[in-house]
Amino acid sequence: MKLIFEKGAPGRTGASVPECDVPVEHDLPNSLIRSEDAALPEVSELEVVRHFTELSRRNFGVDCGFYPLGSCTMKYNPKMAEAVGDYDGFRELHPLLPQLPGGETLTQGALRVIHELERHLCEITGMARFTMQPLAGSHGELTGIMLIAAFHRAHGDKKTTIIVPDSAHGTNPASAAIGGFKVVPVPSDENGFMGLDAFRDALDDRVAAVMLTCPNTLGLFNPHVKEIADLTHEAGGLMYYDGANLNAILGKSRPGDLGFDVVHLNLHKTFGTPHGGGGPGAGPVGVAEHLVEYLPISTVEKEPDNTYRLRYDNKRTIGYIAPFYGNFAVLVRAYAYILALGREGLIEVAEHAVLNANYVLARLRDYYEVPFGEQCMHECVLSAVRKNDVSALDIAKGLIDRGFHPPTVYFPLIVKEAMMIEPTETESKETLDAFCDAMIELARLAESDPEALRRAPVNAPVTRIDEYGAARELDLALL
Ligand SMILES: *Cc1c(COP(=O)(O)O)cnc(C)c1O
Repeated sequence: MKLIFEKGAPGRTGASVPECDVPVEHDLPNSLIRSEDAALPEVSELEVVRHFTELSRRNFGVDCGFYPLGSCTMKYNPKMAEAVGDYDGFRELHPLLPQLPGGETLTQGALRVIHELERHLCEITGMARFTMQPLAGSHGELTGIMLIAAFHRAHGDKKTTIIVPDSAHGTNPASAAIGGFKVVPVPSDENGFMGLDAFRDALDDRVAAVMLTCPNTLGLFNPHVKEIADLTHEAGGLMYYDGANLNAILGKSRPGDLGFDVVHLNLHKTFGTPHGGGGPGAGPVGVAEHLVEYLPISTVEKEPDNTYRLRYDNKRTIGYIAPFYGNFAVLVRAYAYILALGREGLIEVAEHAVLNANYVLARLRDYYEVPFGEQCMHECVLSAVRKNDVSALDIAKGLIDRGFHPPTVYFPLIVKEAMMIEPTETESKETLDAFCDAMIELARLAESDPEALRRAPVNAPVTRIDEYGAARELDLALL
């Protein structure tokens, strides 16, 4: 495909603005004035439209096809939530809207949305309060770690370490380290859980917190989670819940009831906001009662007269985490999504997400190695390891040729040639079957004609790239 600079012809233009017929006056210094015209594309409106439409069709999103990228919960986001997020009254709100005498009258509706979303998230997770400020899951993790640090500081406790299982998402150890703690990794046992004995060995009175993802990135729910929480609390530590996998347990199990003190959610994974390409997202953080006083500012408070106000005078607050209200449009979508599905609908999300993942696992287990577990929660992890050297990457590229977005590969790190498949609740049996058929065809091809697989993808605009060169011989110079 040609670049837009290679299209068009000299003098061609898409805009029809009359020639300027008044003297052009300016007081720019000569050094800032161009001696030649800028080398902009000279294209007609139609050429521009075709160019960008063609580019957009090369993009793959959940609206185009199956997107089973494990851990990311790339589920379909109902257009209803988009429409609500796009209401004029929300979209045109300015965070510095003048506050009328007697209260923040112009933002009362927005504050109510934030307040009611907070109540819903508290109900769903079993936590006392939430901050809506963090702008991503990882940002929520950092916020949670700062809350944990503030709690221990206020209690005069010198805590220096955070326990993170080796199956954790990379953001967990990163957040703990940025928060000033030493990360103590604990290996998984033969069942895919954080090993209890190894955990006991790692636990001592220096441990500020244990970060758990439950179900974890292998799609497995740790049956010892309550015991881990009790042991951690006895040792004076706190429990952190990475809620990126909440889709698996919505309405079924609540982190607060399991003994977690801090929870982050990814609204852009579980609650109706499209993601991929880096955002925007929202990573609200929920806390148990004993951590409420450290929450970031501002919080939204409901007054006895049913008005809402932003509160900034929390004395023990960890301060600002994000400007204004966080990613407000993402909060609106989550609010709409939760209200639209209701209690029963959210429970069905979890049931279908888990059912779909188990269906995929059952159909593929004879063709790929399954390193852990008879069953899974919302995602399943296979290994593409086989006797010849066909890799998970080869299978992933083969899926691209067959019209599917590949699953997550090479994560979690503890599985060789990992393929982490998260079908989500929104996919039909026909789609799951088509994907499984493709995976089975690829498993056969890996045996019968591995060379063909190594050439894949052949149908994509970009074929195999030089992965080594891309990492080691970077050439970032602009042409
Ligand atoms: C996605 C994810 C995160 C990080 O969330 P972001 O919103 O991408 O910053 C953390 N943990 C797990 C298990 C995840 O899947």
